Formats: sequence, C-alpha cells, structure tokens
Amino acid sequence: MKSKVKHEDTQRARVRSGGDERGEPLVQVPGPVRQLIRTLEGAGYETWTVGGAVRDALQGIRARAEDWDLATLATPRQVQRLFERRTVPLGVEYGTTGVFGSDKVLYEVTTFRHDVITYGRKAKVAFAKTLDEDLARRDFTVNAMAWHPRRRELRDRHGGRDDLQDRILRAVGSPRKRFREDYLRVLRGLRFAGALNMKIDPDTWDGMVEAVPGLTRLSMERVREELEKVLAGPHPSRSLALYQRSGALKEILPELRNGASAEALATVDALERGDWLLRMAALLLFGMDPGDATPDRVAGLLARLRFSNADAERTGAVVRGGLTPPEGIADDPVARRRWVSRMVRPGRSSVEDILRIWKAVAEAVPDCTDPGAVDRVTTGIRRDRAVGIPTKVGDLPIAGRDLVAQGWLPGPGIGAALRSLMEAVWEDPTLNDRTTLLEMVAAMNLERPPR
Ligand code: ATP
Ligand code: MG
Repeated sequence: MKSKVKHEDTQRARVRSGGDERGEPLVQVPGPVRQLIRTLEGAGYETWTVGGAVRDALQGIRARAEDWDLATLATPRQVQRLFERRTVPLGVEYGTTGVFGSDKVLYEVTTFRHDVITYGRKAKVAFAKTLDEDLARRDFTVNAMAWHPRRRELRDRHGGRDDLQDRILRAVGSPRKRFREDYLRVLRGLRFAGALNMKIDPDTWDGMVEAVPGLTRLSMERVREELEKVLAGPHPSRSLALYQRSGALKEILPELRNGASAEALATVDALERGDWLLRMAALLLFGMDPGDATPDRVAGLLARLRFSNADAERTGAVVRGGLTPPEGIADDPVARRRWVSRMVRPGRSSVEDILRIWKAVAEAVPDCTDPGAVDRVTTGIRRDRAVGIPTKVGDLPIAGRDLVAQGWLPGPGIGAALRSLMEAVWEDPTLNDRTTLLEMVAAMNLERPPR
C-alpha cells in the first residue's frame, strides 16, 4: 500500500515536470551532497534531501550549495562517528549536525524528528524513525517534500508539488494547530507567499490571522531574523503587504502607527536588496508618526529587536535624513554643506545612505518629491567631495597647531576659529588653501589678538 502511494507520487512528479521521459533527474542534487548521502546510506542510515532546496529545484530555481539540507535516520552521534572531523555540532538537541562536503561547504544533516512538546516557540523534538513523520512536522506543503537522488524518488505526502504548480501556500495539516505550535510559521508563511509569489490557501490564511496575537511570544531574535530575510529578498513589498494585511506588522512593530503604505512598499523595493537596513529605515520613516522617527527612538526600537549596536546606530543616523531633502539644500550650496557636515559622525558619514533613500523615494513616489532636487544635491555633494570641501574642521588644510604657531593659546577659541574658517570656505571654496587660510588667521589675530 505504502509503496503504491510512493509510486504514484513519483509518477505524478514525472508527468508534471514535463520532458522527464528521457530520464533527466527532476531535481539536480550537487555531487558533494550525493556523496554525503551515499556515505550515510552505506552505513545503513536512510537519508534524503529535504525542504527549501527541493522546493526550489522543482521550480527550476538553482539553490545555493549551502541550502541543501539532509534528513537522515542517523542520530547526531552516528553522523559524528561517520564523518568525524568533518562535523560541527550545530544544534544537537534539535538533531542537526554540520558536515563539510568535499566542496568545503557545511551542510546541515538533521535526524528525522517529530515535535513532542510545542510552546508556540521553538519546539522540543524527539528523533523519529521515518521520513514521513519528519515531513509531517514541516510547516508548508511546498516545504514538506523530500527527494532521494539515487532512487530518483520524490516523497510528497502532502501535495506539495501540486501546490507548487498551482502557486498555493498551504499549511501541512490543520493550519490553526500548526500556527499555534510555532508562531514563527506565520511569519515564514507571509515571507514564502511573497517571495514565491503564491496565494495563501484561505484556511491557512484564516489560521495565520488568528495566530497573529501570538507573535509577541516569539523571541525577538527569531522575529528579527525573519524580518531581515524579508527585507533582504528581491521584492519585499509582496511579503510586507501580507504582513500589513494580516496584522502581523502592527503586532511586531507597533511603532509603525501608519503601517506600510503603498509609497513605503514601493520605496523599499526601489532600494537595493543588499541595503536591507536602508529598507528598514525607509519603512520606519514612512510608517512612524512624524516626529517619532528620531535617531534615539529608532535605535531603541532596533535594539529591542536585537539588532547589533552598529546596525541600530547606523539606521538611527540614517533616519535623520528623512525621506526627502530638507528645504533649501538643493539650491543653496552653503546650506547643503552645513547639512552634510551635520550628517557626519565619528567613524562614518550617513550622507551616502541618506542619498540612497532620497533617490529611492524620488523613483518610487514621483509626486512626493522633486526628483531634480535629489539629483542637484547629489551632484553638488560629489563635486564638493572631488575638490575637497571640508565637512569637519579636521578636513581643513590648516590645524590648531598652526594657530598656536601664530601665538594663539590652546583652548576652545581655536576650535571656534577653525569652525568659522570652515564656514568661510563653505561660502567661498576658493579660500580653501593653506596660504589663504593662514593669512585669514593672521587677520583674525589683528582683530581679536590672543589673550
Ligand atoms: P529558505 O532557506 O529559502 O528561507 P527553507 O524552506 O529552506 O527556505 P529553512 O528555514 O532553511 O527554510 O528550513 C528548512 C526546512 O525546515 C523548511 O523547508 C521546512 O520544511 C522546515 N522548517 C523550518 N522552520 C520550520 C518551522 N518553524 N516549522 C516547521 N517546519 C520548519
Ligand atoms: Mg533553507
């Protein structure tokens, strides 16, 4: 009976894949991964490729090597014994051992398992004897398929392949129950539906919405990691719109009083995916009440989500720039230089980050800003940088010791004098050379001799 089901699953997969009659594999598994499976099975432990890489391969998406996950009958201890020094314990209590493949990639090898105690957070698991038990605890049907490369068999007990074909995201088993077992599945589902461009099955959607209030019980790290995965994806707007529609966004970021508007989403998409922190900054700038998005509050909010200090600080500094250039700086070089100088902080400047946000807003929300203004500010800043206009007194071609050499007493007067010279250079960049500035210092001495 069982083998008949298996056979049907395999057949259906062949037919749907189209053109498999000639015997090309449905799922192409990298050689080093097949090698690990051979070793495990040679020792008597049934082993399959599972999860995201199988799902992606079935859609013709080539997974990165490290995304290939293995599920095996071997316990972590048995995996360690088999691969010895090629292993890294990654989460032994969850059954996961890292094993270096012949390509030096660290693959996750996880013992078949089932949930024994669920808390709505990370579950307590026990090792299981069969792949099917393991697949039944997985979150969505499209994630609950396994592929055996040597047997060329797809194990698909939950209709994942049909759902993939029909672009439907569906929980494995009872949605209400599955989301209550682990609320992170709600966020994962919103991410997958957006990233894979799938419709969420109505029962699954109802289960998600019902589970939204439980999100606050998740650890902030797990929430942050999910948010980061969404924001670092190619088109976060789809997932974020689902976050918004399901109520999940308000639940995890109550500070976003205005949610994620169409303008916010378009801007987030317009920013580079590598700049996911800037995407976060844009989301906050659009969604928080004006006046709330201060560097301190933003840094505090991100610290709560367990962002690193450096990331929280960078994002806090970026929101100082707002969504559009402040009044006046597009056409007044002195105002622009004064603004740039304010955006410089020890170690790094936020100016480039801010320009990227303004540019994205100008692109994504054409009525919201004069796109010419952003270009003019950007060109002005680039030109100033090329000719060495100072943004802090340390950039001037003279320093405090030059004033001391002219008889100034060390003290705050020197800083003030340098600051006024920098302002003079902003007014007239031709003054920015050492001889001229030293002459100006001498003239200052005449007016205001040192004590
Ligand atoms: P991606 O890596 O692209 O985010 P993925 O599906 O590979 O997607 P992983 O987080 O790498 O996601 O997890 C691997 C697999 O483990 C999933 O495909 C799913 O089968 C299972 N899984 C992960 N997290 C959960 C969870 N919270 N509940 C149930 N199953 C899960
Ligand atoms: Mg994965």
